[in-house]
Amino acid sequence: MEAHDGMYIDGAWRPAAGGDRIEVVDPATEQVIGRVPAGGAEDVDAAVRAARAALPGWAATPPAERAALLGAVRDAMAGRREEIAATVVAELGAPPAFAAAVHTDMPTAVMGSFAELAASHPFEERIGNSRVFQEPVGVVGAITPWNYPLHQIVAKVAPALAAGCTVVLKPAEDTPLVAQLFAEILHEVGLPAGVFNLVTGLGPVAGQALAEHPGVDLVSFTGSTAVGRQIGATAGAAVKRVALELGGKSANVILPGADLGRAVNVGLANVFANSGQTCSAWTRMLVDSARYDEAVGIATAAVAKYVPGERLGPVVNAKQRDRVRGYIRRGVAEGARIVAGGPDAPEGMETGYYVRPTVFADVEPGMAIAQEEIFGPVVVLIRYEDEEDALRIANGTVYGLAGAVWGGDEEEAVAFARRMDTGQVDINGGRFNLLAPFGGYKQSGVGRELGAHGLGEYLQTKSLQF
Ligand code: NAD
Repeated sequence: MEAHDGMYIDGAWRPAAGGDRIEVVDPATEQVIGRVPAGGAEDVDAAVRAARAALPGWAATPPAERAALLGAVRDAMAGRREEIAATVVAELGAPPAFAAAVHTDMPTAVMGSFAELAASHPFEERIGNSRVFQEPVGVVGAITPWNYPLHQIVAKVAPALAAGCTVVLKPAEDTPLVAQLFAEILHEVGLPAGVFNLVTGLGPVAGQALAEHPGVDLVSFTGSTAVGRQIGATAGAAVKRVALELGGKSANVILPGADLGRAVNVGLANVFANSGQTCSAWTRMLVDSARYDEAVGIATAAVAKYVPGERLGPVVNAKQRDRVRGYIRRGVAEGARIVAGGPDAPEGMETGYYVRPTVFADVEPGMAIAQEEIFGPVVVLIRYEDEEDALRIANGTVYGLAGAVWGGDEEEAVAFARRMDTGQVDINGGRFNLLAPFGGYKQSGVGRELGAHGLGEYLQTKSLQF
């Protein structure tokens, strides 16, 4: 699609207040593919005013009508599937099949799920002598990252609109084109002016202005823990609601009775999907001492499937590539052993921000590569002695977003998962559920997205007594 040289505010594309632009780069070719305005405080203010003005009307729209509009958005997203996927291929570098199946079909399905929830959710209940109403929180400031660009947008905008909130979105600077495409879709289906507004811009400028704006009632942020901490502090000082979806360093725990081949192969696929840029990726693989060497062998062999430029896309930008390669060098310096991949560019891939899929063995739980989020195609294999040791290692980071447990016996795996300090655990390769609450324990965040729990973040309650 052609980039819009404007902001979508109050139902129309308007010129930005300033003349600064952000260049959008294709990470596979390093070519500039578009330019969008770098908005500032003035643009944010115009967008928040539009959202405030639209709030009473949208909040009073019957849920069934809101549901019908969200259903129309879902259909329009499905109708523009190829365009959405091509846009994500171009600005994120995702392989085409993954861009279609995950970056496009998943947010389309999530939009559909909130259309259904808007229609079926009990916005009113009776508790004794009270009628309790769930009302929209108000104007939502949504700030999203680039790694699942449309999914992250939909995971905030869909429940906000379903709840009756109005929205100002500040998408990531690396992936603004799919955000503009989404704004086009909302416009086409006839969402009332001001209900959804888009301001593209830099995080510390437009993002910060949005987080600080007194006209915003709830800030919903997905991104790094460093920025999330700052946004949480700003929101706290203003006694404003905040939802934070932050980083992770999730553990893939393979218990002694598990199917080792499957657990290792699915574990690697989980990390290498999206070039390792998944906040919930199982980047630490925990294997018992007795089968550790066997697991290393399986992992080493499996890496060959992830050919850069084919199944494995580039990472999003040069800074991210250098950061990931820096972590790979750091792992070597810390004494871990590379069994596949490494810090150099993949053979014949000098153009594009590619990183070799990398597996580390002999990793100690305290090493930086086992503690910090790398956000690239890097897996570390950690040895454990017994179940208590595995649990200590699994829980031994500041994060707690996701994880996996594999066991010969499902109940044994469930019992282990219940002791993990983390928000989501897949048992023996359990499938993604777009209605299940998603979010973090500890420094992985505050609040939950998706399904009825995600909708609840955008609602506040009022009790009337009789
Ligand atoms: P980031 O925190 O730098 O940026 C995220 C968003 O915040 C972007 O839109 C950015 O413009 C904006 N931003 C940056 N500085 C800001 C500021 N001072 N004030 C307001 N907004 C600001 O993160 P990133 O590099 O884009 O994304 C990678 C990180 O995000 C990883 O750590 C990853 O784990 C995390 N992440 C978490 C989830 C989740 O669901 N928990 C999902 C995706 C990414």
